[in-house]
Amino acid sequence: MNTHSPLTILRVAVPSPLRRFFDYLPPKDGKLQAYEPGMRALVPFGKRNVVGVITAILSHTDIAVNKLKPIKRLLDEQPALPPSILTLCNWGIQYYHHSPGDVFKNALPLALRNESTPLIELVDTWQISTKSRLIELASLSRAPKQVNALTTLRNHPNGLTQTLLAGLDIKSPTLKALRDKGLVELHKKEQSYANWATDSVLRETCLTLNEQQQHAVNTVLNTDQPDNDSKLSFATFLLNGVTGSGKTEVYLQTIEHVLKAGKQALVLVPEIGLTPQTLHRFQQRFNVPVLALHSNLTANQRLSVWRQANAGSAAIIIGTRSALFTPMKHPGLIIIDEEHDLSYKQQDGFRYSARDMAIVRAKIEDIPIILGTATPSFESLHNAKEGRYYALPLTQRAGGAKLPTFEITDLRKAELKNGLCKTLIRSMKHELKQGNQILFFLNRRGYSPVLMCHDCGWNATCVMCDARMTYHRQPTHLHCHHCDYQSRINQHCPECNSTDLRAIGQGTERVDENLSELFPKTRIIRIDRDTTRRKEALENHLKQVNTGEPCILIGTQMLAKGHHFPHVTLVVISDIDSGLFASDFRATEHTAQLILQVAGRAGRAEKPGKVILQSHNPEHMVLQSLQQQNYSAFIQHALPERQLTGLPPYGYIAMLRAEAAHADIASRFLEQVVEQFNNMTSQTVEAWGPVPALMMRKAGRFRYQVMLRSNNRLFLHKAIAELLPRIEPLPDSRKVRWHLDVDPVQLD
Ligand code: ADP
Ligand code: ZN
Ligand code: ZN
Repeated sequence: MNTHSPLTILRVAVPSPLRRFFDYLPPKDGKLQAYEPGMRALVPFGKRNVVGVITAILSHTDIAVNKLKPIKRLLDEQPALPPSILTLCNWGIQYYHHSPGDVFKNALPLALRNESTPLIELVDTWQISTKSRLIELASLSRAPKQVNALTTLRNHPNGLTQTLLAGLDIKSPTLKALRDKGLVELHKKEQSYANWATDSVLRETCLTLNEQQQHAVNTVLNTDQPDNDSKLSFATFLLNGVTGSGKTEVYLQTIEHVLKAGKQALVLVPEIGLTPQTLHRFQQRFNVPVLALHSNLTANQRLSVWRQANAGSAAIIIGTRSALFTPMKHPGLIIIDEEHDLSYKQQDGFRYSARDMAIVRAKIEDIPIILGTATPSFESLHNAKEGRYYALPLTQRAGGAKLPTFEITDLRKAELKNGLCKTLIRSMKHELKQGNQILFFLNRRGYSPVLMCHDCGWNATCVMCDARMTYHRQPTHLHCHHCDYQSRINQHCPECNSTDLRAIGQGTERVDENLSELFPKTRIIRIDRDTTRRKEALENHLKQVNTGEPCILIGTQMLAKGHHFPHVTLVVISDIDSGLFASDFRATEHTAQLILQVAGRAGRAEKPGKVILQSHNPEHMVLQSLQQQNYSAFIQHALPERQLTGLPPYGYIAMLRAEAAHADIASRFLEQVVEQFNNMTSQTVEAWGPVPALMMRKAGRFRYQVMLRSNNRLFLHKAIAELLPRIEPLPDSRKVRWHLDVDPVQLD
């Protein structure tokens, strides 16, 4: 080997669960190439070739060079991922202690994980040939279509795409005929994307902002007068605005300035928050390309959005969690709508928080980020209090709408008809008579949560989980909502053979049935996962609601978020009690958020709204403080408890979970982990457990967990980094499925 030429080592993130990078040599063909981090490479891995991402180019490695394999080839001539996304991924690898390959797998569009998909889109482009410059058009006079095509192409000497020509009614037989005469040529050319005009970004006039909204926009844009040049730079803003306070209007008017500066905006919304309504609001406001990344897109459609964002021609990108990784050529702003929403945390594989990583990304790109919500997470409130985020409060509903009044109905000993309290039925009748709409919220689909034998007390449980099966009637079956196991219903109790099997409790199906009996003339629209399976079903239901005709909407949490129902004046919240007593330390936080979000659907327009919450525990602290519509009153009650226990936001936690076909294997493995942990010296970090998960058996597997906790984030991460290499060699680690969850949001 020539000692003067430095060695080139390519460090690659290879799709594999292993928590490490892999080093390779350049390909054998020895062609001189410029390697850059972010490039895709096809690399040999085990017996296969896989698509990896080059993350660094080094001149030495700890591995003996003769052990290194060369990559097969580079897939593209330029990096697929820009430096900002690379840095973001590297941060994620460190912070979540996760496998590099899996992190990059999340960051790369699905289509680009395939070696045969090109990074740059090549499109069929027709162009005039040299020969055609010389001929007289008159020589083609017997073929007017060809004359027309040739004239058009002569006016565009750089060529026109096949799609564009088709739009001009120039068809391919005509073009092929011209090609046969040697007059035009077909080339594959890089797709070029147009930019939007920055001087006419608005399609409609904006609303006049109220003082708090204007202050919010000015603060984010870093300008005090609206005509001042804004300086977009990194800062995190917590836009804490009550439901209906016009947060979206703040987003829109901030984005307007960003677009005028020629920059792009990335808007993340919760998984079920990306409604056609939301998208429509952005598209109606702006005269620029607004593209959505949602789960109904094919891999190729997603790639197309990704490419346009990367090229800078998509002005606004709206998407759910994974849209976080969409590169932008001219990044200007990131918005996280409903920042408290649980769907921002990925619950399997790479367990990242898109909200937290978005803040990291905004810092990397040096752009502002807005976290909007009516019910901030405790973490975000804490960060605002500590001065890490700027708080931008919106305390009033916009446009003169009032916050709804809140009423708690004591269900204890209440007289019921069709499972509903009689006073509630009266209120509903009254509302419908006034021509109003009602939203009935019940966060449980199916007919009833329990099917019980009246003679012996047997009830239907899942064979795979520690859970009851939900009874469904449309069609009739039992369904486990935890593992999706389904079974038929026997006419007889399997224990005592009685036929007196009874549905206990209410799901949305049953409420639908009950309300139809009580209000036979009223249209009832049920919106849950079962009634919206078909494409466009949700949209059609919402269209019906938006006609404004009196109706009763029954819905699960699908309906809780983001929707604007101007005609709903009464919101009924039913059966929320279980959330008040769950063992997850965040359960009350999540329940309070859900209640306020649902309540926020009432009275959003001219007519005032009312919320009736039915409970068997009307004195509960959460309900009492929310009755004043007061999230901060609730916080003041709930936060001290967190402080006492040292849980987030006062402490930092990570969860180690293990599951196995036998309970003792899972718990034994975690005991070994804790033993390893205790051998380490980090006294500032505690390990709690192992304890069984809240649902110990799920989908046929037994689940245990250990919580690692510290008052110091750095110490926690150091301990994890020291612990993981000790876990991986444990013999039992192969007998269980285990994972680490940093900043877990749900303890199930
Ligand atoms: P949020 O996102 O905070 O729940 P929205 O942005 O949906 O609230 O606004 C609620 C309603 O108030 C919408 O109909 C919106 O058009 C209206 N609105 C927002 N800002 C203003 C304003 N400054 N003046 C008048 N109406 C407004
Ligand atoms: Zn029985
Ligand atoms: Zn189950």
